[in-house]
Amino acid sequence: MALLTTLSFLALISSVVQGYAIPNPNQPSGRATADRNAKVLILGGGVAGIIAARTLHEQGIKDFVVVEARDELGGRLKSTTFAGKTVELGANWVQGTQTGNGPKNPILTLVEKHKVKTMYSDTTGSITTYDHTGAVDFLDTFYSSAEAYENLTVAAGANNYTFNADEGGFSEENRLCVEQRGFKTFIQEEAKSFLKPSQLRLKSFVKNISWSASGVKVTLDNGESLAGDYAICTFSVGVLQNDDVKFTPSLPATHQGDFSERIESLADDQVKQEVMSVLGAMYPNITVPAPLEFMFPRWYSDPLYRGSYSNWPPSFVQQHHDNLRANVGRLYFAGEATSQKYFGEFCFGINGALLKGSIDHRLLAWSIRRGSGYGEGGG
Ligand SMILES: Cc1cc2nc3c(=O)[nH]c(=O)nc-3n(C[C@H](O)[C@H](O)[C@H](O)COP(=O)(O)OP(=O)(O)OC[C@H]3O[C@@H](n4cnc5c(N)ncnc54)[C@H](O)[C@@H]3O)c2cc1C
Repeated sequence: MALLTTLSFLALISSVVQGYAIPNPNQPSGRATADRNAKVLILGGGVAGIIAARTLHEQGIKDFVVVEARDELGGRLKSTTFAGKTVELGANWVQGTQTGNGPKNPILTLVEKHKVKTMYSDTTGSITTYDHTGAVDFLDTFYSSAEAYENLTVAAGANNYTFNADEGGFSEENRLCVEQRGFKTFIQEEAKSFLKPSQLRLKSFVKNISWSASGVKVTLDNGESLAGDYAICTFSVGVLQNDDVKFTPSLPATHQGDFSERIESLADDQVKQEVMSVLGAMYPNITVPAPLEFMFPRWYSDPLYRGSYSNWPPSFVQQHHDNLRANVGRLYFAGEATSQKYFGEFCFGINGALLKGSIDHRLLAWSIRRGSGYGEGGG
């Protein structure tokens, strides 16, 4: 799903660039008065937020707090119980594993470390194709279209490289999560290994983020405020585009893209009917029995996500990525959509979330210790 149209994205970028303020590194720390202070506020407890926290921890910076709206960590790693079994509502594949002694997918490393069960999955290898008359084999067309699409995105500079080992990806292999504790287990267990209770605020919905060259103040929906010398915002690009969270001064002028919102606006019963009619067309000679249970996740309507994952248009180039993740004052951005190499298209997102939660924050940690932020003037 494309989260942004080209135009809306360009509006976002130009506003970020216009709103970019180069802070004075010699200016004293100016934390706004707040109910609680920390050196670094990490906004969001998904993969990017937890890996950012782990990186600061490893770099000896312990004065941080992770602020998360939900009652658990994991973000778009979200599971539920359906028909008595754990099913994933969000991510459920480790995309790309390892080629020979090449780089290993860091998600796989965490999955193995925390004994999260996965199994080999051939993803598109066992697809059956249908048209309105029933099963019709047009896999050749499907595969050649997929290849053409990939060639096009490589040529346009908008490819996601998780799989392609020649491009620094991991491997062509996928592993499907079959863990009854949920896929989120790998990041929740990782968090447990270093995060202290005082470093975590669950059930804390951020309503307002005030940023400046000297600090960041965050106001929660219960009116409480938190102040930090720095903040790292890992909210999805869908959240940044929406007005669920207010930025002061405002970030970009946000515009809605062409989202596939229609289906999410329907009642469950209507969605069920539509699904049944598609199944009826796929299996014209069979009476498809009504489902015993039905569940339909609505990622777009959820104010914590506003979409599933980013999929940038071909005109989205290096400079756009650089602008998207550029800090404004002492407010930094991380998360799946800020990774140029592993952004969220076709489920590759966790790697983007993990790598962007880690690499930049080592630099940030280094600069915090020096007394000025990474990306700040002289930082
Ligand atoms: C349906 C689906 C399938 C996917 N499949 C795969 C897959 O198979 N493999 C793969 O690699 N990737 C997959 N992805 C993508 C992957 O889940 C994401 O790229 C990754 O989890 C993003 O992590 P993040 O930390 O960047 O963002 P998030 O997980 O979105 O973390 C942001 C956190 O911020 C919190 N938050 C948001 N707003 C507020 C607020 N106002 N106040 C406080 N907290 C807030 C959210 O609750 C969330 O915990 C899938 C995603 C979806 C939705």
